[in-house]
Amino acid sequence: MLSKKEIIEILKSNNDDVLKQADAIRKEYVGDEVHLRGLIEFSNICKRECKYCGLQCSNKTLERYRMEKNEILLYAKRAVDMGYKTIVLQSGEDEHYKTDYMCEIISEIKKLDVALTLSIGEKSFEEFKAFKDAGADRYLIRIETTDKELYKKMHPHANFENRKKCLEDLKTLGYEVGTGCLVGLPGQTTESLANDILFFKDIDADMVGIGPFISHPQTPLKDAQNGSFELALKVMALTRILLKNINIPATTAMETLNPNGRIIALQSGANVVMPNVTASEYRKKYELYPNKICIHENGDKCRHCIENKIKSIGRTISTEQGFRKK
Ligand code: SAH
Repeated sequence: MLSKKEIIEILKSNNDDVLKQADAIRKEYVGDEVHLRGLIEFSNICKRECKYCGLQCSNKTLERYRMEKNEILLYAKRAVDMGYKTIVLQSGEDEHYKTDYMCEIISEIKKLDVALTLSIGEKSFEEFKAFKDAGADRYLIRIETTDKELYKKMHPHANFENRKKCLEDLKTLGYEVGTGCLVGLPGQTTESLANDILFFKDIDADMVGIGPFISHPQTPLKDAQNGSFELALKVMALTRILLKNINIPATTAMETLNPNGRIIALQSGANVVMPNVTASEYRKKYELYPNKICIHENGDKCRHCIENKIKSIGRTISTEQGFRKK
């Protein structure tokens, strides 16, 4: 266990031994297998106004799309045919998908014999329960930052306490719970990043996704500097060191800032990759931030490309659903 002071020192130092230590802990607790999760970004319509995000409702230049059930199921089936054992459904907060409709989609996907992760934003306890009853296994809600003042600035009309309550509700309901933060938000301090890591430990997150903030030209943060790849990597490595046996993705945002970012992340504590399985016409429209990788690729190509990269560093592709190791 590291103290907050030690975490801050590590984050501030130029020494990156922590990356090697995280790699060793990853190997000891979760082994050399990498879990691939097939990501379906099914709607970029969002009612929220997160200042950093390209999908925010005030971005009027973004061409919006939403997939209906049949199309989502088509991509889910293709993902299963490609060998994925987990499907991740992600979207903006789009009220078109009423609880019953979402439950239909969930139970159809569960018939494919895969684990299912949802990443569709803040919902009520009852909705989370309905999704769980329909078969959802996991849920991702990044806390984004635990600095309450910064949280308020970044999320107009939203509420830190509610986002935290969502994570608690999900735990209560028996989901595997994923959270995480953005690294390099304007005004974010090193101390608050240390608090983020301790928060992940405190709530005993099952999955933690960490990514650098990347400035989007159609947002109020268009003139802000991007976060640092190296710092995001360290936050991720420290998370591995503290939480040991959890699942940690090598995030797409990391690869956006460094052409070998996901492989470097896999060698610094990560054990999961979430390749996109949808067609390129959608990928470019799901623009959380600019220059997202692989927007001209298709699902098959992404799967092969990442598989080869993973094998080239002596790691293997898991053939299991990849729940948190006990
Ligand atoms: N609506 C869902 C999914 C959000 S999109 C939810 O609220 O949970 C998934 C993640 O993308 C966000 O949690 C955020 O951390 C990340 N993201 C958004 N904009 C970003 C940006 N400009 N740079 C880097 N990551 C970003």
